[in-house]
Formats: sequence, structure tokens, C-alpha cells
Amino acid sequence: ELERVEKSSVFAGVSKLGHEQVVFCHDQATGLKAIIGIHNTVLGPALGGTRMWNYASEAEALRDVLRLSRGMTYKAAITGLNLGGGKAVIIGDAKTQKTEAFLRRFGKFVESLAGKYITAEDVNMKTRDMEYIGMETKHVTGLPESMGGGGDPSPVTAYGTYMGMKATAKKVYGNDSLTGKKIGVQGVGQVGMYLVEHLVKENAEVFITDIAEEKLKQVSKDFGAKVVGMDEIYDLDMDIYAPCALGATLNDDTIKRLKCQVVAGAANNQLEDEIRHGNMLIEQGITYAPDFLINAGGLINVYEEHLGSYNRDRAYTTAEKIYDTCINILDVSAKEGISSQEAATKLAEKRIEDIGKVKLPR
Ligand code: NAD
Repeated sequence: ELERVEKSSVFAGVSKLGHEQVVFCHDQATGLKAIIGIHNTVLGPALGGTRMWNYASEAEALRDVLRLSRGMTYKAAITGLNLGGGKAVIIGDAKTQKTEAFLRRFGKFVESLAGKYITAEDVNMKTRDMEYIGMETKHVTGLPESMGGGGDPSPVTAYGTYMGMKATAKKVYGNDSLTGKKIGVQGVGQVGMYLVEHLVKENAEVFITDIAEEKLKQVSKDFGAKVVGMDEIYDLDMDIYAPCALGATLNDDTIKRLKCQVVAGAANNQLEDEIRHGNMLIEQGITYAPDFLINAGGLINVYEEHLGSYNRDRAYTTAEKIYDTCINILDVSAKEGISSQEAATKLAEKRIEDIGKVKLPR
């Protein structure tokens, strides 16, 4: 058995994505199995949530933590935060395995990294779970306001997305006014709803879709947005498409149906294939605001909390800077003939490289 494990190289994935450290956490007594991925700490401590998932295999869990922690490095770097990228996955059934002891044991593993990794809530982790983790480590962020944390990040995320959308509009239409623009918002959950509020305030013509009928009715009633069908959104006569529900909605099938000039939304991983679909958008004359930049408001919010004495105004001020960063990325993309996703990645890497030199001991 051990021989088989030795043959499947763990380091292959680690060295391909360039991780600094990967920590395998195991506890016999509670049945805890977790992996903490620390991708890069040049800019600061590696921050990223913990998700619990019943992975089909340990290899799948490892792949997920490596991919997600790397994504956090780029998100923090492009947003100008002094944070590195990290993520943790707990392998198991979130419904049955999360006991107090199990979560506190995980907290002890986080604490053992002495602040090199900072955790937060992610898929299948609840506030109560974070409280247990927080009993064993101070390196937890994203706590509710009642516990001195920054609370719900969604309004800040929506504001950052709105800033990114305006910046992209500026590049495409020559000014950043959204007045009269036809905007399709896919998903009116936490972020989508706040985004609709900003757009309606600016007198945009907003179309919304969602699988949850109740939410759809409520947002339509509150803001006067027009409801469209779930599949209809892709064929809509619109200027701007804002994906705020699921990932991978920019793919072979949908891109050719889009009639908009701008895609700017909050959903994670909108491009099914970063290179192929990034290029397809360019070919179709659609300007894409990189998702990992314009949805960084959530990370900004926990970063503010991490700095101590959380200040929501400061979070909004930082989120506002997404506007300038987005303009810069779109300029580089046009100048170098590369997709905006590629340009954002390049600028993030450059910042890590430059600041890495500043930090070198003399
Ligand atoms: P949410 O769960 O509150 O909202 C998602 C909404 O999308 C729900 O109303 C859901 O019913 C709807 N939906 C699901 N499938 C759909 C479909 N096929 N078509 C149309 N609607 C569909 O989540 P959220 O917190 O608003 O986040 C939205 C997106 O933004 C997610 O991709 C999330 O990862 C990303 N994001 C959120 C934050 C944040 O601060 N909340 C930060 C960064 C990124």
C-alpha cells in the first residue's frame, strides 16, 4: 500500500503550481483528515477559507486545495493586499463528522503554523464551526460582527463588482455611466441583490434571473428589475452581462450566444477554460472584467478584519480601488494583445516579484 502511495507523486502537483508548503493534518481520535495548502507568503500570511467536502479521493482533495490556494495568491496580489494565498480542505462528511473536538483539533493545526496561514469560513463551514476553531487559534478571520468581526462580506463584494463594471464600461463606451445600460444579472443572492441595488440607483435597465423564485420576486419588487428566464439570459439583448451565481457560465455554448459588449460579475471562475474562453470573448469583441479581481471585496473585508479593529469604511475605500486596477489591467490587455485574465495574472505575478525583492534581507 505504502509503495503505491509513494509512486503517485504528491510533489508533482505541488511543484507544478509552485506551493511553499502543504500540511497534511491527521488525528486518529477525532477522525480528522485535512490538508492546508500554503501557496505563497511573499506578500503576507496565506489567507483563505476552510472547506469541508466528501471528496471522492484524497488526490481530488489535494488537487482542490492546491488549485484554490494558488487562486488566493493571485486574488490578494492583484487587489494590492499584503496577503499571500492559502486554503484548507477537510475531507469528510460535514453533516456527521463536525464535532467540537474535531473542529478544535483542526484549530490546533492552524495554530501550529503560527500565523503563516489564516483561515476563514468556506463551503460547509458555519459560524459555529469557526467559533470552535477559534478556541484553539487566533488565526481565524471572517467572524460575525457580534464576535468583533467584519460580518457579511457581500455588500463589499457587490460594491467592488460594481466598481469593476464601471471601469470596464469606461474602457468600452468612453465613460463609466451605467445610466440606460441594459444589464443582465444572473443570480440575485447575497451579492447579486446588492449589485442590482447599485445599478438601479444609477438608472440602468436591469434584468434578473435566478432559480429561486421567491428571491426573484422580492428583488424585482424591491428594485423594479425585470425577470427573465434562466436560459434566456444568454440570448438577451443586453450591454452588460453580470454572472453572480455559478462558475463556468462562459463556455463554448454560451459565449457565441452573448450579444453584450461587457462581462463583469461576481461569480468565481466564470471562464470554463481560462485561455480558450478568455480568447473567445476577445474574438467576439466582448471585454471581460477578471472575476478574481472584481469579486475581491469579500477578501478585502476579511483583510480589514485581520488588520485589527475592523472598519467598514476602510473596506469600501479599498474596494473602490478595484476601479483603477481594472482600468490598468484592460490597458495592459489591449497593449499586449492578451486576454484580461492573462493580463491580471501577469500583473499579480509582477507585484509578487517586485515586493519579494523589496523584502529581501540586506
Ligand atoms: P448566494 O448563494 O447568496 O447567491 C447565488 C444565487 O444564485 C442564489 O440566489 C441562487 O439561487 C442563484 N443560482 C444558482 N444557480 C443558478 C442558475 N443556474 N441560474 C441563475 N441563478 C442561480 O451566493 P453569493 O454569496 O451571492 O455569491 C454569488 C457568487 O459570487 C458565487 O459564485 C460566489 O462564489 C461569488 N463570490 C461571493 C462573494 C461574497 O462575498 N459573498 C465573494 C466573492 C465571490
